[in-house]
Amino acid sequence: MARIVMKFGGTSMAGSERIRRVANIVRRQQAAGHEVAVVVSAMAGETDRLVNFCREANPLYDPAEYDVVVAAGEQVTSGLLALTLQALGCQARSWLGWQLPVHTDDAHAKARIEDIDSAALLASMAGGEIAVIPGFQGLSPAGRVTTLGRGGSDTSAVAVAAAIGADRCDIYTDVDGVYTTDPRIVAKARKLKYVTYEEMLELASVGSKVLQTRSVSLAMKEGVRVQVLSSFIDDDATPADEIPGTMIVSDEELEGHEMERQLITGIAADKNEAKIILTRVPDRPGAVATIFAPLSAANINVDMIIQNVGRDKGETDVTFTVPAADLLRAQTLLEAQKEAIGFNRIITDSKVAKVSVVGVGMRSHAGVASTMFRALADRGINIQAISTSEIKISVLIDEDETELAVRVLHTAYGMDAEGEAA
Ligand code: ADP
Ligand code: ASP
Ligand code: MG
Repeated sequence: MARIVMKFGGTSMAGSERIRRVANIVRRQQAAGHEVAVVVSAMAGETDRLVNFCREANPLYDPAEYDVVVAAGEQVTSGLLALTLQALGCQARSWLGWQLPVHTDDAHAKARIEDIDSAALLASMAGGEIAVIPGFQGLSPAGRVTTLGRGGSDTSAVAVAAAIGADRCDIYTDVDGVYTTDPRIVAKARKLKYVTYEEMLELASVGSKVLQTRSVSLAMKEGVRVQVLSSFIDDDATPADEIPGTMIVSDEELEGHEMERQLITGIAADKNEAKIILTRVPDRPGAVATIFAPLSAANINVDMIIQNVGRDKGETDVTFTVPAADLLRAQTLLEAQKEAIGFNRIITDSKVAKVSVVGVGMRSHAGVASTMFRALADRGINIQAISTSEIKISVLIDEDETELAVRVLHTAYGMDAEGEAA
């Protein structure tokens, strides 16, 4: 017998028929002799709909009230799944965030889980009851509802798995695993059997939304075994225990599957960045600090940075990217500091995309970057900025060329699956 956390995403929970399919998958895991806790997302599109209501009610909405509204989507699906399981003859009950409780900090709309009380949950599961937990929601120290940021149900699932010492956390979604790149964009993407925590963390943080970034860092920290797999399966599909999906594993565990190791593990794209260029900034010590201090004080993350070659008269252009959602705020802050920074013009562009290649193989192999630059150049794709980490290279390009760039790179690194349509 094992203790399993099963998480079902929005597409898997969209409507009564799909919830019935989910209930059957859950029932099969219990029938296999496991203790089961289930974490659910709101129905696909529901959270967007609720966010829109908040914007319509008050464009400058109070995040605490926003949380009350958007947490509702998961309350509905958790109750519906419990009802559906009961209709199948299973014992099941929902445990809302405030009931468990899932303690978080008070950063409304992007709260972090601090602790989950697992005693009641464990007792209920030991008694043969299936625990259904709405993802994405928690309880602040002040006793108010919080939410964990978009895509946060993945993090709820991993946190529950850590709290109850689960043997595995299965993340059921609308694809059957983690692929070399988004299989909805590149038909030749290949499914990976294993991905290391580190690579998955990097892939998630540069735009692979198959798992929320925080869920991966939490799994890595707590040593939770995570599998990504499909909920769109028939009764005779390979059981979850036989690992039909993708396992996120440690570096050491991957060693045992060395044949799997590739130079590049995956490619991701992110269209949610915007570029800012400040022209004719004085080329002197402290100039760059004057630009970034107000942005960091306003909690705006600066990602890629280029300080261009100095112009005449001791001036230079500085280019960098910020999240597109923060562009207006960043622009306003910089305009306010125009005198202090001493720039001439501010030029912004939100029609950019960041394309990144990720792989631990990069540590020991040279030439990864030059392959990338050559492949993009051959297709006439212009690189506007570059940033690197030990296991990642990112380039900023025109948004219209995103899909083409991902496909070209996928081929250039020899990652295309054979025998499938392009
Ligand atoms: P859920 O609603 O189940 O949480 P998401 O939409 O958040 O599902 O995540 C699943 C989606 O992630 C897939 O439909 C796919 O389009 C996308 N995706 C992006 N990158 C990848 C990748 N490398 N492998 C698999 N799926 C990916
Ligand atoms: N429903 C939330 C969202 O859409 C959380 C989740 O699905 O993971 O962001
Ligand atoms: Mg998701």
